[in-house]
Amino acid sequence: MKFIICENWIVVGYKVWIHLSECGFCKDGKGIHPVSSTRNGRWHGPLSTYNEAFDEAISTSGHVSQCRFCNPHVNLIIELM
Ligand SMILES: [Zn+2]
Repeated sequence: MKFIICENWIVVGYKVWIHLSECGFCKDGKGIHPVSSTRNGRWHGPLSTYNEAFDEAISTSGHVSQCRFCNPHVNLIIELM
């Protein structure tokens, strides 16, 4: 299982979504936009863990959201001290 991040600076508030790579809304980074372009946003990944994806997402200055369709956050790895 891999994770993909979609940065979109066109939407109000500048959002960053975390997806599973198999999510229909990201299609391995090709996304809902047929031509890959950095005009509206940018893809990061694939990343191998949710934690890695989350770190990458918060390293952008966007507001981090979970995709409502693939629910990537159920894969959060909780590290107990
Ligand atoms: Zn998704």
